[in-house]
Amino acid sequence: MDTQLLIGSRFEAGTETEELILNPRTGAKIIDLAEASHAQVDAAVDAAEKAFSSWSMTTPAERSGYLLKIADAIEKDADAFAALEALNCGKPINAVRNDELPAIVDCWRFFAGAIRSMHATVAGEYLPGHTSMIRRDPVGIVGSIAPWNYPLMMMAWKLAPALAGGNTVVFKPSEQTPLTALKMARLLAAILPEGVVNIVLGRGETVGNALINHPKIGMVSITGDIATGKKVLQAAAKTVKRTHLELGGKAPVIVYDDADLDAVVTGIRTFGYYNAGQDCTAACRIYAQDGIYEKLVADLTSAVSTIKYNLADDTENEIGPLISKRQRDRVASFVERATEQKHIEITTGGAVGSKDGFFFQPTVVAGATQDDEIVRREVFGPVVSVTRFSENDQAVAWANDSDYGLASSVWTKDIGKAMKAASRLQYGCTWINTHFMLTNEMPHGGVKQSGYGKDMSVYALEDYTAVRHVMINHG
Ligand code: NAD
Repeated sequence: MDTQLLIGSRFEAGTETEELILNPRTGAKIIDLAEASHAQVDAAVDAAEKAFSSWSMTTPAERSGYLLKIADAIEKDADAFAALEALNCGKPINAVRNDELPAIVDCWRFFAGAIRSMHATVAGEYLPGHTSMIRRDPVGIVGSIAPWNYPLMMMAWKLAPALAGGNTVVFKPSEQTPLTALKMARLLAAILPEGVVNIVLGRGETVGNALINHPKIGMVSITGDIATGKKVLQAAAKTVKRTHLELGGKAPVIVYDDADLDAVVTGIRTFGYYNAGQDCTAACRIYAQDGIYEKLVADLTSAVSTIKYNLADDTENEIGPLISKRQRDRVASFVERATEQKHIEITTGGAVGSKDGFFFQPTVVAGATQDDEIVRREVFGPVVSVTRFSENDQAVAWANDSDYGLASSVWTKDIGKAMKAASRLQYGCTWINTHFMLTNEMPHGGVKQSGYGKDMSVYALEDYTAVRHVMINHG
């Protein structure tokens, strides 16, 4: 198991407090890892600064070549990456190996292609005697900070566009899930020039805080909680850093009377509980119209009660545990408070799902109303609420009545009704008759307090590069 930070071309152990890394399936210790000191963070930033002058001058074709090599190397070692990610996050091995790893490899390949075909306003004489051209140049050193729900995928989403754009990076994985990032450190160091990527370990309030306040860092990219995003903005204000914020979600799922009920139930069973609901796009806030409400609750309840978890044979498992005891207890307390409401019924689940490990039972909370905490706050666990609505407009209004604005979906056989709703939903993404599906060509990112900046797609390349105008006076 790789345990060392990557600073320039040096691998070295952190020198500060040790963080206990646990196996969420069993609660047992995997390893203790020491976090980086301030001096080590500074050294990582210095290495990135040194590498920037040559890396930023490489051609798109050269950078594309490096990214393709990284994709190939991950693909070659996909089984080992999947096993390590499953160990650290408690994810079912098949979900990591068959769903996540191919998408991760494809992300690196997508940006290898995309950087070679960027577009802009055409060069020309917009003032007589003057030729203008648009450049897209790297921002500088990017401080990238990742969450624990998809560690290796978030690393790909952050590193691939940043490197493709000609930036150098200091990357910090979540203190709870650093193991695949440390394995990636070895892989990246063997492929990339020294200092282009540096990896430091540690908690948010120490190492993360040092990164977001570092005067030499030109851009901070973070995926995490809204509260963390606000801290990044406060720090960024001091030196006017560029920021890229992917912060939580509470995805509404509007189900009209004429929806295909079987498809809805299968969809929510999958997209509401995938990764044990630790997903910012999870289909967790259902609004079901009067005519379909009762049957939806009944069918969803029986479908969700068959979700397989915590079986000894992991290849059978559909979902894993929560990442930590703290997160499981947080989910449990949301459900406990919901249960205290007389109008709410927990139709399946509702309790801790294992003696050891951090499982929570897949749960359906029926009869929830718009003002209930369970409808308004991000639970980030295997818990889906169902709220009844009558009028079409009411569903869209309730869906929009949220601090969050990341993902949403609409389920109906009437495409006109779906398009009308989609045009009014204030979300970074609206799916129609599906949910959760992502592709590297399309942008992912929020509005409102879900943040701003896009992952994946050419829009991410735009975020990680600065538009510049060069004008030549030729008399
Ligand atoms: P978190 O905000 O606690 O931590 C995210 C990262 O930020 C970690 O690496 C952490 O160490 C770091 N961090 C925490 N405090 C910091 C500080 N003061 N300064 C600098 N860095 C700091 O979030 P989490 O618990 O790891 O992840 C879950 C959250 O992430 C959820 O709210 C979820 O919705 C969100 N999320 C969003 C997306 C998206 O695309 N919008 C994707 C995945 C997760």
